[in-house]
Amino acid sequence: MADSLTIAVSKGRIYKDALPLLAEAGIVPLDDPETSRKLILDTNRDEVKLVLIRTSDVPVYVDYGAADIGISGKDTLLEYEGDNIYELLDLQIARCKLMVAGPEDMTPGPRLRIATKYVNSAKRYFAAQGKQAEIIKLYGSMELAPLVGLADGIVDLVDTGNTLRANGLVPKEHIADISSRLIVNKASMKMKHATVKTFIDNVARAVARQASN
Ligand code: AMP
Repeated sequence: MADSLTIAVSKGRIYKDALPLLAEAGIVPLDDPETSRKLILDTNRDEVKLVLIRTSDVPVYVDYGAADIGISGKDTLLEYEGDNIYELLDLQIARCKLMVAGPEDMTPGPRLRIATKYVNSAKRYFAAQGKQAEIIKLYGSMELAPLVGLADGIVDLVDTGNTLRANGLVPKEHIADISSRLIVNKASMKMKHATVKTFIDNVARAVARQASN
């Protein structure tokens, strides 16, 4: 009997971009999360299920083995500390940049205040720059923080830059290039090796094909 395979993926941008890769790897969900409220999606393959969860929960499910495989943004992985995950493949989807941004005339006081959801990445970045920064954890709408005096600037994902522009902010410093990655639970990699390896090889081929198109 084929090994079961549970794949954790977040709804929205990453799911939409991952679907063609999964399809090329022979996995097609039977439900559409846009119209269904199901959190576990069956696929055309009886033994393969997709679980749809929040972006930041994907590494948690994979770390604890509740999912064998996950598709997670590098931004999320940079924040997560878990020992039971291999990051195996850059899917080259949902690409954007993690950046420091702020008002054009950002003039911080003696200690820079930065609002972000990406606390670990921000701390590492400013420490590596030798800059003192106070990091304020927010869960969303970071762009608001400099506008109301909560922070001098923000660390956030930037794609087109429209969100920053719409709020009178500009990108200042590049921290990291971000894209979605395929992650695998270490025990699943060992216990379901042939199944997991075949899946990864198929997805890797799909990524290479998309890159050459
Ligand atoms: P943009 O206005 O195109 O620069 O997009 C910026 C906003 O979209 C940010 O506030 C992010 O929250 C979100 N965003 C952009 N790209 C991504 C991505 N690849 N993954 C997740 N969120 C993203």
